[in-house]
Amino acid sequence: MLNLINITKSYPRKGLFGRGGEPARVVDDVSFSLQGGRTFGLIGESGSGKSTLARIALRLVDPTSGTVLYRGEDITGHAPSRLMAFRREVQPVFQSASGALDPRMRVAALLEQPLVIAGGMARSEREDRVAAALRAVELPADFTTRLPRTLSGGQRQRIGIARALITEPKVLILDEPVSALDVSVQAQILNLLKDIQQARGLSYLFIGHDLAVARFMCDEIAVLERGRLVERGPADQIVGSPDNAYTKGLLEASRWSDHRG
Ligand code: ADP
Ligand code: MG
Repeated sequence: MLNLINITKSYPRKGLFGRGGEPARVVDDVSFSLQGGRTFGLIGESGSGKSTLARIALRLVDPTSGTVLYRGEDITGHAPSRLMAFRREVQPVFQSASGALDPRMRVAALLEQPLVIAGGMARSEREDRVAAALRAVELPADFTTRLPRTLSGGQRQRIGIARALITEPKVLILDEPVSALDVSVQAQILNLLKDIQQARGLSYLFIGHDLAVARFMCDEIAVLERGRLVERGPADQIVGSPDNAYTKGLLEASRWSDHRG
């Protein structure tokens, strides 16, 4: 579905008194692909470059070098007008969906906003989509009138997922979708994401820092250390018998018990 090939991203380093030094390379020659209906995990500690790769995969940020293919087509140089189908089909879910939600908007308006922006859909069809998205994330139909501040963290994240589903995407880019939630709520959201994937045949890029969570969610895992992939393979193998010292450290830091839902 999505191929990232030899992706590198550098940012200018801000030196003392505005003198720039060597650009800081925050992603260094990273390649991976998302297969249809499968989950690829990108795991690393804070600052390892995970969100930068998520934004590159979403075409929100240009790589310094490298190529992004969507369903075989090179979209790296595409102008925004040529990315409309891509934007519908590849949707993000961020760590704190609450931060991304306008506090003054009710759930119905939040959910239909992407459809309103895209245009060309009758109001009744938008309402049907909103109702279907609420059902998909297992929230009651009358949540349409709620304001974000009246929702729990888990409910807000369900709204974030519903909003991502509203355009009927094929790929979700999940950037730490449960990292801000209590462990018990994390399990509910992870199970929900798995159910949605099964029902709709979606591809997931799952980004996180916890290897136990990644084992539960992912088919394949790649471990990112300071912008480089240091280990990759089937999830059970990477988490069950890691080769790399950095991966072993991440595993020791995992506080998520080996939850099987
Ligand atoms: P992660 O999501 O793994 O925590 P990020 O991709 O957010 O990592 O960040 C990786 C590195 O890139 C960090 O050192 C961060 O400070 C740096 N970085 C991210 N975005 C920018 C930016 N717009 N300008 C400069 N540096 C950035
Ligand atoms: Mg991040």
